[in-house]
Amino acid sequence: MKIPDLHQIYPFQNNYDIRENGIKIISKADKSYIFDNVGNKILDALSGLWCVNIGYGRKELAEAARFQMTELPYCNNFFKTTNSPSEKLSEELVKISAGNLNNVFFGTSGSDANDSIVQFIRQYWNILDKKEKKVIISLDNAYHGSTLVAASLGGMKPMHSASSLPLPGFVHIMPPYYYKFGSGQTQEDFGIFSANELENKILEIGPENVAAFFIEPIQGGGGAIIPPDNYLPLIKNICKKYDVLLCVDEVITGFGRTGNWFASSAYNLEPDFITLAKGLTSGYAPLSAVMVGDRIAKVLLDKEIKLQHGYTFTGHPVSCAVALENIRILREENLIESSREVSKILENSLNYIKDKSNLIGDIRIKGMIGAIQIRKEILLEDKKISYRYSKLLDFFISNGLIVDVMENGILFAPSLCWKESEVHEFTQKIISGLDFLTRN
Ligand SMILES: *Cc1c(COP(=O)(O)O)cnc(C)c1O
Repeated sequence: MKIPDLHQIYPFQNNYDIRENGIKIISKADKSYIFDNVGNKILDALSGLWCVNIGYGRKELAEAARFQMTELPYCNNFFKTTNSPSEKLSEELVKISAGNLNNVFFGTSGSDANDSIVQFIRQYWNILDKKEKKVIISLDNAYHGSTLVAASLGGMKPMHSASSLPLPGFVHIMPPYYYKFGSGQTQEDFGIFSANELENKILEIGPENVAAFFIEPIQGGGGAIIPPDNYLPLIKNICKKYDVLLCVDEVITGFGRTGNWFASSAYNLEPDFITLAKGLTSGYAPLSAVMVGDRIAKVLLDKEIKLQHGYTFTGHPVSCAVALENIRILREENLIESSREVSKILENSLNYIKDKSNLIGDIRIKGMIGAIQIRKEILLEDKKISYRYSKLLDFFISNGLIVDVMENGILFAPSLCWKESEVHEFTQKIISGLDFLTRN
């Protein structure tokens, strides 16, 4: 399809290039595969965009949506009215998330959920008359979404410079990215070193001015950055020590992605807020949720307070019905448990490739998320390989594989329904990609 046929503006793309050279239309999907409109079958190792956790083609979700649209397609949750899918879903989310997260606020995207959290944080400290507690700390290279607030929370430099961000009051520290910043240290020492960055930043700003710390347990869009094991527990203690609210963005890590329902419970983080989106409906319908801790809810939901925040689609019955069915499938089919086994097989295959190839500097994997990182010195010094690397994503797609290829690695986040056969196909295609980098 060529200009002037295209009218859509595509997110995070060079739109000029697309209008000149066309774009692929995806017309069908089933389990782990997507199909374009000219019949190519592509292994989707990114689950759409880190979201189709149960895999494509589950008719149960379609049926849940159809039923709910027929019964009650919309209902506002503003006028002392609600709908039963959103009630059931909030109950379910409270059950599966650990700790004191007994309160749920619904939105439609990860970005708006993070925006909601920032508003709740401000309202919380304002009500407690600690109005100076406004600064929010997060990590360089983090991805928290695309609204002004979410992009400010995020640490993506190109987004910041394009829109003159971050907004005032958003500051960033070094992420716990061992392969990039940890050389010469043990994982454990680097975990301590990285956590100290947070403590130092809090002390520099003054704890009385710091409202909250935001973190993805594993940086997803930034490169599947898995922190050293001691990092998150240290972060938790630092936040407690300085009365800084802990906000855990589980938009990617939630719903089984890391081999547990949530990373927060696996690390016993006891956050004040959790952000959920993406895998909440396995991408079948737009929906996000903010899990709110009791300490916050006690203040925000006090008898004197009328909440000054909400969206038309808060608690949307169709999306909530789809999410309920998604959770049922994850649970009843033991997809999270079985994906851990598949993750082990995948890890072994990738380590095998790493041992055979001098191109790979780092393999990272936790559950069904990970990265294959080409040696940083090769990409810096070898012009041919780094040029080929810039074409690698196109190579993979034309060879029937979707991954993300970026500076920090070849990123993958397969559906939890992958079996050994998909792992085998994936590994073969990765090997072809590595050959493409060095071939004459
Ligand atoms: C995708 C993502 C978001 C933003 O979600 P949208 O639905 O695209 O707004 C927020 N946080 C993380 C960690 C994400 O990966």
